[in-house]
Amino acid sequence: MKGLDGKTAVVTGGGSGIGRATAERFAAEGVNVVVADVVEETGRETVARIEAAGNEATFVAVDVTDAESVQRMVKVAVDKYGSLDIAFNNAGVLTGFAETTSISEEQWERLININLKGVWACMKAELPVMKKHGGVIVNTASEAGLVGMGGLSSYSASKHGVVGLTKSVALEYAGQGVRVNAIAPGPTKTNISSSMFDDGFLSSIPFLSRLDKLVQLLKMAVSTMRAEFDTSAMRDVPMGRVAEPEEIAGAVAFLCSSDASFITGHTLPVDGGQAAD
Ligand code: NAD
Repeated sequence: MKGLDGKTAVVTGGGSGIGRATAERFAAEGVNVVVADVVEETGRETVARIEAAGNEATFVAVDVTDAESVQRMVKVAVDKYGSLDIAFNNAGVLTGFAETTSISEEQWERLININLKGVWACMKAELPVMKKHGGVIVNTASEAGLVGMGGLSSYSASKHGVVGLTKSVALEYAGQGVRVNAIAPGPTKTNISSSMFDDGFLSSIPFLSRLDKLVQLLKMAVSTMRAEFDTSAMRDVPMGRVAEPEEIAGAVAFLCSSDASFITGHTLPVDGGQAAD
């Protein structure tokens, strides 16, 4: 792909799923990749996979909800590779399916902090560096950022926020050599369903927090329900299947390439036709 070779990129959520596939794609295109993730083990695994393929990558631990650690992530890229040209602000989590009235304030804040405030914090750290010599940012929204999704109101709100944030920042920087776009993936084969167990969704149910074994059993049951949801999500995709993470990575690489040099402020659905339905 044109215009990627020799550039430097940060990829948040680079330890898994869409982030890992994009980090690997960037590296295969000759990009120096800073793999950033809150989970050190999986982030380092991504770096090892990239190095095993003979390409260049560095791991940096980041929590996108922590502005200081995000600033550190950008500094690592600049110190190690001399610049920052590309940012894929992708880290995100999914919440458990719940009616709006049963979402706790903690659950709401956690989701919005990671999925929306995290993207803003990343751009706040990246833009001053990119302004000096130009750059490209891609933020990860979702199909849920284009249409409402009953039972996923906080997730959908966070992703609609990413779309609005992307458009606004693109306008601010259109004359300063920085393009800002988003992608809106449809259902994609990744580990995101497991993140819904981290938000206190199950342990918030009275009495269950102390009954570890029962909670484990419930997690398995919900995981089965989730698999059924994935199957029904698949039926909702006009192409009749879910995406491989590499298919999302291809769209991100295109938006970051010079073939997309006149595209800014756009959210690209990568969803097997869902947005057309
Ligand atoms: P994933 O769970 O496989 O990967 C997400 C990564 O983000 C993980 O490595 C995780 O450790 C990291 N992460 C979570 N919180 C973080 C934090 N605070 N700081 C830094 N890293 C953090 O899931 P994925 O599906 O690859 O998700 C990537 C993005 O794609 C998310 O923004 C998600 O909302 C979006 N998305 C996914 C789908 C899908 O069907 N998988 C669909 C639409 C959008």
